[in-house]
Amino acid sequence: MNCLLKRTEAEGYEWVTTPIPEACNDEVLIKVDKVAICGSDISLWKWNETAKLIASLPFTPGHEATGTVVKVGPNAARLTVGDRIAVENHFFCGKCLLCSKNRGDICQNLSQYGHGRGTIHGGCSQYSIVNEKYCYKLQHNITDNEAVLLEPMGVAHNGIERLDVSGEEVLVIGCGAVGLFAIACAKALGATRVIAADIVPDRLIRASKMGADVVINSKDVKDFKDKIMELTDGNGIDRICEASGSAFMLNRCFSYLRKGGKVVLIGLVKEPFHVENPIQDIVFKSLTINTVHGRRIFHTWEECEKLIVEKKVDPSIVISHDIPMSKFRDAFNALFSQDACKIVLDPQN
Ligand SMILES: [Zn+2]
Ligand SMILES: [Zn+2]
Repeated sequence: MNCLLKRTEAEGYEWVTTPIPEACNDEVLIKVDKVAICGSDISLWKWNETAKLIASLPFTPGHEATGTVVKVGPNAARLTVGDRIAVENHFFCGKCLLCSKNRGDICQNLSQYGHGRGTIHGGCSQYSIVNEKYCYKLQHNITDNEAVLLEPMGVAHNGIERLDVSGEEVLVIGCGAVGLFAIACAKALGATRVIAADIVPDRLIRASKMGADVVINSKDVKDFKDKIMELTDGNGIDRICEASGSAFMLNRCFSYLRKGGKVVLIGLVKEPFHVENPIQDIVFKSLTINTVHGRRIFHTWEECEKLIVEKKVDPSIVISHDIPMSKFRDAFNALFSQDACKIVLDPQN
């Protein structure tokens, strides 16, 4: 079979041909139908400081994957050959305190599919081995492209669920794939108005298609806070989903969050977090600050699949490239030059 492999710290991935692996114990062998490339895969490709924090060599990349079960290990009991699945890439241990509280999403011993921690296998491969307990069995006949995006959509859905958006106005900062899904999930969960901000025109076009009522190119406004206050009659915004990872945007968002408001942090902010006036902008506002890492297992998956089946969220809007895995170098070049939104690869071609 063909797969991508990262063996050394050198930039990039190797294209290798290797034997199809065997499923042992409660593992299953899946034929990977689609794999999607995530922002964090850029770090892994470059092998920068973030990569060293979250991954270990060697590994096959690709943590957003969907496939069909083609073989089951001798002790697999949940899945059978022919089942279509999507991989929950938060490999929870099942033994720690958080796992005992049904919070495998933030397991204390978390390892991740496609990151070489605990397994070499990842989704950028014609076939892959996954423990069946990390497989979400699809319940509806959604497409492979829809199924492969349940993972990033789930991050957005998890964040939006923390915000109780029903009847509220929501600002989504950052319209990458997760921000775009946050827009659609906020509308689906009853937000009265969604304002979306980014600096890339193509992303703002996609934001409108995902259901944003107002889009702002934050490069074009003189003062972002003034713009939000103007749009909300001076009240400030009820709910904020921070999906840009920009420290500048995060630090300022508390100044225009309404009293009693809620914010969820999804973007990976790499600089220190600093609020100019914490008494006025945080404490006296009686805010709720949430963060999410991944999805609620498997609640989020079920909810997201339902939203897709009900046509409340259309994942195809976030896909900019749908290409064979053999063209993976083109895919990463497009990501590096910011010409891409979500890239989906077909490992069988
Ligand atoms: Zn991802
Ligand atoms: Zn655990």
